[in-house]
Amino acid sequence: MAGTQAIKIKFGINKDYHIAHTLYCCEYRRFSSSEHSSSLVEFQRFVKTNYPVHYEFIVSQRPEKFLDYRTNEEFCEFFGNHLVNKLTRFFKEIARSKEFSPILSQTEDYLKFCKKQWESNYPKTLRMMEELTGLRFHSSFAVYLTHPSLRNGRNIGGNVLLWGHNEDWPNYTTIYLWHEIMHSYLGYDDLDHAIIELLVDNELRTRLNGGSYPPMIGHEHLAQLRMEILPFWEDYLKMQKKDIKKFRDSLSALNIQVKKSI
Ligand SMILES: [Zn+2]
Repeated sequence: MAGTQAIKIKFGINKDYHIAHTLYCCEYRRFSSSEHSSSLVEFQRFVKTNYPVHYEFIVSQRPEKFLDYRTNEEFCEFFGNHLVNKLTRFFKEIARSKEFSPILSQTEDYLKFCKKQWESNYPKTLRMMEELTGLRFHSSFAVYLTHPSLRNGRNIGGNVLLWGHNEDWPNYTTIYLWHEIMHSYLGYDDLDHAIIELLVDNELRTRLNGGSYPPMIGHEHLAQLRMEILPFWEDYLKMQKKDIKKFRDSLSALNIQVKKSI
């Protein structure tokens, strides 16, 4: 039975994480589009000039560490209370700064966009995903959004997703939220990932947007693996009653894996 709330998503912005992710992506030039680049660059310059020590510390860490650093025992023990208190004051000041304000409002607008698109695509994509996987979805996810002109897209476990990207083609956000959701159902190794790319990045995308594949969308390092799976995948798609986990297990048994190029 296709319940209307089989997948529940709660979109939110965690300001500390949002600030850390913005600085990290500006530092390592992880942009997804040049839109709003002047506010991003101005923000980065403001923090780098006025808080050089904090800036260097933040860009030296994975941004997701700042989602819960204050309550994370490991973080507090490793870095000490003094640094944790310094960071708390820093994030508070930055969140109030006029340089951060346009960034936050751009991400708030993006949150509304993502929510609207997800909700309007949800009934039909849920039906498609149930048919394609044989799964009955029952999960709630928290999605922490970051600035749309920067790159993000991760499932960090515990049904927590991190997301933010330029809308490169129609329904981009919907497709990649399903991609991240599927990591919670299939896993994270190369085979799981290549199957998710066939299932979501390619099959769900063409069902929603039209077109065909190959050529396929997905990570470059999985291109060969996707091509090896493709004939099995085409047979799978013809099946009346699909079971994506059985499909994954049958490929494992065939010992299909990435051939290491020398
Ligand atoms: Zn992935």
